[in-house]
Amino acid sequence: MRKALVIGNWKMNGRQNANEALLNALTAGYDNKLERVDVALCPPSVYLAQAQSLLQAGSIELGAQNVCADVEGAFTGEVSAGMLAEFGCRWVVIGHSERRSLYGEADAQVAEKAKRVLDAGMTPVVCVGETLDERESGLALQRVQSQLRAVLEEVPVEHLAELVVAYEPVWAIGTGLTATPEQAQEVHRALRDTLAAQQVELDEKVRILYGGSVNAANADALFAQPDIDGGLIGGASLKADDFLAICRAA
Ligand code: 13P
Repeated sequence: MRKALVIGNWKMNGRQNANEALLNALTAGYDNKLERVDVALCPPSVYLAQAQSLLQAGSIELGAQNVCADVEGAFTGEVSAGMLAEFGCRWVVIGHSERRSLYGEADAQVAEKAKRVLDAGMTPVVCVGETLDERESGLALQRVQSQLRAVLEEVPVEHLAELVVAYEPVWAIGTGLTATPEQAQEVHRALRDTLAAQQVELDEKVRILYGGSVNAANADALFAQPDIDGGLIGGASLKADDFLAICRAA
């Protein structure tokens, strides 16, 4: 049985005062019923220390939005996996479509990042997703399966089951256009086929999250799908009530 997982991706949002208010509201609203769900937040890396200190007494975990593909050295502006681990991160989002489209990250780099995250004892959350053009050309499944395979082929076999996958259709991110539960389920099923082809029973072990305009109103129907194990939440993770409602739906 896969445990539900909901991760909030704050993207480049937040200020110290607003973060404190949001983190305190989340901690206050978190109740025992949420223990059946893994709940995590990924603030901008400069706020990890603040979030770590405000979350230390509770069950909400910490993650990062990105990581450097190299271990250390002359990489101006980058943050290493070892640094993220030092600030209590358990999860690291890699290959988000904004990283791929705005910063030119390719599959090979995403695979390197997955290895750095695992080496540092954290869990990679591998994002995959097709563009609207790819969907309309009937290429959605092919696209996401090849993005996933690029990572699976590079990760040591003994670590494969630790991966988390996030399906985020590019056309659904920040647009208010959510994939229908059926559209998302079809892609999640196809991703499980790719996992199974890589290793026996891997499809039953790896958690696959849906992301893209998830909100408190549509979360229930999405998370009711058999192959959707939770969500990667952007905009709605910036509001405590909405984010907690989504966590409860998982
Ligand atoms: P939205 O929930 O704002 O559409 O963002 C989704 C996302 O990209 C999470 O990583």
